[in-house]
Amino acid sequence: MVKRIVFLMSDTGGGHRAAAEAITEALYLQYGHDAVTVSLVDVYRQMKYPMNKMPEFYPWIVNHAPWAWGLGYFIGNIKPICWLSQRLMYLNNRKRLQQMAKDHPADVVVSVHSVITQPSMMAYRAVFSPDDMPPFLIVVTDLASTPRYWYDSRADHCYVPTQAAYDNGIRNGMRPNQMTITGLPVHPRFMDVQASKTELRQAFGWDVNLPTVLMVAGGDGMGPLYETARAIDAIDTPCQLVVIAGKNDNLKQRLQQTDWRHPVHVYGFVQDMPQKMKAVDILVTKAGPATITEAGIMGLPMILSDSIPGQEAGNVTHVEVNNAGVFIRNNPALVAKTLQNWLSDDGQTLQQLQQNACKLSNPNAVWEIADAIWQYANR
Ligand code: UDP
Repeated sequence: MVKRIVFLMSDTGGGHRAAAEAITEALYLQYGHDAVTVSLVDVYRQMKYPMNKMPEFYPWIVNHAPWAWGLGYFIGNIKPICWLSQRLMYLNNRKRLQQMAKDHPADVVVSVHSVITQPSMMAYRAVFSPDDMPPFLIVVTDLASTPRYWYDSRADHCYVPTQAAYDNGIRNGMRPNQMTITGLPVHPRFMDVQASKTELRQAFGWDVNLPTVLMVAGGDGMGPLYETARAIDAIDTPCQLVVIAGKNDNLKQRLQQTDWRHPVHVYGFVQDMPQKMKAVDILVTKAGPATITEAGIMGLPMILSDSIPGQEAGNVTHVEVNNAGVFIRNNPALVAKTLQNWLSDDGQTLQQLQQNACKLSNPNAVWEIADAIWQYANR
């Protein structure tokens, strides 16, 4: 019988969808399209106004008032406030979330988004009797500073990316045998880019020989990406820039309308991130967990030039303690200077950073999680 897997996510940023799509692909590759059907449900979209506007509101607030987001993260992570906000979110959207559960019956439900996990679980538990309740799994997609929202001891199992995320789970009432440290799931495409760097650069129409810097700021193109690109463009060391604006059309337009000194290749939301990452030498990025983990798979040295207050702080630590890159927040000139130093020495710094980056991520995580979901689906 075909197994139905429902992923609960939201397009707030690009990381939640990336995780769901990564596991989906692993399920299809492992068990075949005939054996599994998958639905991705944007849970915020099921809720009432204003929560249903969260995918638009999230990049807006992070861009315009990051301090407010950070404050919200801090306050929301206080135990009683977290508890209350989850219940209020459920009660305020009860009918809609229960309808979501009815519309998406499943053999396994997998949440890949922190804040929607508990309200969704409450809805499924209200709709289905204990005998009919599908296993409810959580795949934590923040690397280390994992907010409380992720953890609910009523879940059947929780897959966490790091020891820090595991420890947070224990602190928040999860049982040790209820969690497995797998690493963050990365799409199998990242492990399967056949073309060489040169072939890819030729195919993209880039210079084949210039040191190449990829700049990206999550799926939504957040933070000071433009200013950082301008600062890097001002250095005299020969290089080319590949700047990905994601879903931020204004940013893309602004980048396209700028006169650059070095070759600069501007893109909107790209579907071929594995190829883009394989074709470059260095990554300058916001501290998004998915991007960092993908860059680790591709062995890319990275400069973290921005981080969303609160939830991305631990991602920075993850990169720094592994010596896979540096964090330079909101200082485009220093990012450019650091890059110039990396490009100007005899290549040893970059080589060392590359080696360290390769140890950052577990390419098997996606297979382990897909396997576990399959086991639950067949119980
Ligand atoms: N991404 C993509 N195309 C783009 C920009 C980003 O596929 O043009 C993907 C990127 O590879 C990663 C995700 O979007 O998988 C971004 O997730 P991350 O956790 O780094 O940041 P978020 O957007 O969630 O803040």
